Amino acid sequence: MDLKLAGKTALVSGSTGGIGLAIAQALAQEGASVIINGRSEERVKQAIDTIKASMPDASLSGAAADLSTREGAEQLFQQVPTIDILVNNLGIFEPKAFGDITDEDWLRFFEANVLSGVRLSRQYLPQMLERDWGRIIFISSESAVQIPIEMIHYGMTKTAQLAIARGLAEMTVGTGVTVNSVLPGPTRSEGVGDFVTQMANDRGVTVDQIEKEFFESVRPSSLIQRFATVEEVAALVTYVSSPVSSATNGAALRVDGGVVRSIL
Ligand code: NAD
Repeated sequence: MDLKLAGKTALVSGSTGGIGLAIAQALAQEGASVIINGRSEERVKQAIDTIKASMPDASLSGAAADLSTREGAEQLFQQVPTIDILVNNLGIFEPKAFGDITDEDWLRFFEANVLSGVRLSRQYLPQMLERDWGRIIFISSESAVQIPIEMIHYGMTKTAQLAIARGLAEMTVGTGVTVNSVLPGPTRSEGVGDFVTQMANDRGVTVDQIEKEFFESVRPSSLIQRFATVEEVAALVTYVSSPVSSATNGAALRVDGGVVRSIL
């Protein structure tokens, strides 16, 4: 299938590693010009070099900015005046018991996971509507609908993203712009990979053992009983980013290995 992404410009927030990097790579593979974002120039350059190593002709540029802050967003707007596709991927997670989550933690999670996407959408949605074409995708999580008891603050931000995405989609009526959210399930990204490796080392067991136990006891409803790969998540995001997905709008799309026990 030709996804017709050639000539489109995409910004992927938090794309120096994990799911974001895989999305950037997949969009570039389909011919889009991709803007890589991370907090440091060095990490942004590394990510560009990683993609270029396997795709020398990829059209890539970088915009280093900490998008969990208003100042960072302003810096990015100076560097990136227009885009066709916005992927709000940036997100932080951290297991913490409810009683230990401080006011500062709640605000930090809200700012990084929710406000980052709000600020970017507020900047770029009006120009998409004006041009009558655009894509905004929020990378939410299955944790939006199955709030993890070990990180309720994270779950709150992921549900908030669904509300915002649907609300923004209501602003696109009759235009060529779509706003959707994508809900990955447990995915072996950079962050999750480090976390699992650390757990395995602490307990003196293999990473495979940790994965098996995690799906047996923490996510028993998973139909695939394994972490998704970042490429599996990126494939769905790339489809929703493309002109081919024009009848999908205001939707919450799952790439969660069936972990959410829901038909719709
Ligand atoms: P990750 O930690 O592996 O990667 C996140 C990337 O964002 C890193 O490159 C990091 O350097 C960058 N980043 C972090 N803070 C930033 C900031 N303030 N400004 C700019 N860049 C910043 O994360 P991931 O697991 O790939 O998660 C990506 C998204 O997918 C998140 O929104 C997360 O909630 C969601 N998600 C992940 C999983 C999973 O199991 N991995 C499951 C569901 C949803």
